Amino acid sequence: MRAVEVVVIGAGQAGLAAAFHLRRVGLEPDRDFVVLDHSPRPGGAWQFRWPTLTYGKVHGMHALPGMELTGADPGRPSSEVIGAYFGAYEETFGLRVHRPVSVPAVRPGEDGRLLVESSEGDRSARAVINATGTWDRPFWPRFPGQETFGGRQLHSSQYAGPEEFRGARVVVVGGGTSAVQQLLEIAPVAAGTVWVTRRPPVFRAGPFGAEEGRAAVALVEERVRQGLPPQSVVSVTGLPMSDAVRRGRESGVLERLPLFERITPTGVVWPDGRTAEAEVILYATGFRAAIDHLAPLKLREPGGGIRMAGTRVLRDPRVHLVGYGPSASTIGAHRAGRAAVREIQQLLAHEPVAAAG
Ligand SMILES: Cc1cc2nc3c(=O)[nH]c(=O)nc-3n(C[C@H](O)[C@H](O)[C@H](O)COP(=O)(O)OP(=O)(O)OC[C@H]3O[C@@H](n4cnc5c(N)ncnc54)[C@H](O)[C@@H]3O)c2cc1C
Repeated sequence: MRAVEVVVIGAGQAGLAAAFHLRRVGLEPDRDFVVLDHSPRPGGAWQFRWPTLTYGKVHGMHALPGMELTGADPGRPSSEVIGAYFGAYEETFGLRVHRPVSVPAVRPGEDGRLLVESSEGDRSARAVINATGTWDRPFWPRFPGQETFGGRQLHSSQYAGPEEFRGARVVVVGGGTSAVQQLLEIAPVAAGTVWVTRRPPVFRAGPFGAEEGRAAVALVEERVRQGLPPQSVVSVTGLPMSDAVRRGRESGVLERLPLFERITPTGVVWPDGRTAEAEVILYATGFRAAIDHLAPLKLREPGGGIRMAGTRVLRDPRVHLVGYGPSASTIGAHRAGRAAVREIQQLLAHEPVAAAG
């Protein structure tokens, strides 16, 4: 079995930032650390984002450390722009990402090490930086009658642009940015749209500056400190108010209804008996952390979350989660990569010790 000091799992924003900092402190790719990613191309989850999510519609993509993204055409799909940027970044810093390589499990190994199983063979490591994001775990809510629906049900991660909704009646479920963006695209071509959300959406009129960002991160951090699953970023930041959103509110497209109670073969029904007929139900209901492969390490608390100090998992200090919870944004992922490497450097300076309990 091959042995390395550190395995980085995932080569999105968080994994690449971590790899950059590992190099910076003198560790060599393929000798001291390895980056494994199961997607076909550079770009992390961005490579899969729908083509109408152009670079101009992305709100605040923070650069990777050491190399800016400059001169990108705002009309180009963000999947292309960011895919090309990440590819150039890997090349420039010689990060040697192994792809497509999947990690189905990380287990306790021998001599205080971790055993990282992968589709290109097992590796033994002294530390793991997990940067697997959320894209692989779309969240589908459950409703009574869901399986009886005669139309199409899809998740926002499967959205490929508005054309396929032409002439259809569409129910959009979810209160996040994806719901709003996709609804605004679909409404002009659909026969009708209905927007339902669990809670009334909060639109944020003012700017989203550094102070608001810090406050949002602090809220998510507090949940993670308590061992609770992190909630979505929008639930703490509110939805950004743009001209398109303003128009959508004026035209009634962003008139929101509460969640329906059940699904029928032809639509949805609310508790007061009101109904809406539909051919399509689109769930823009977000994602969960893609960390099932860490289950053998038993990192979860009774509250269902993973208690952390910064990026370090309290139950197993050999494991760092970057791009998780408070660091699940492009700026957070960037900072988390640096913080994780700083702590791992200290861990590597000592003799290996098995995790407690
Ligand atoms: C639609 C949408 C729009 C967004 N817009 C913005 C924005 O405008 N600004 C912003 O700051 N943030 C935005 N975000 C959030 C942002 O995408 C993320 O915070 C950030 O890009 C995630 O980076 P990451 O490195 O954590 O994960 P990812 O980019 O998801 O990378 C994870 C990588 O890990 C790989 N992987 C996963 N599991 C395994 C495994 N078991 N084995 C091997 N490899 C694995 C995946 O293939 C992937 O390449 C958006 C999110 C979504 C869904």
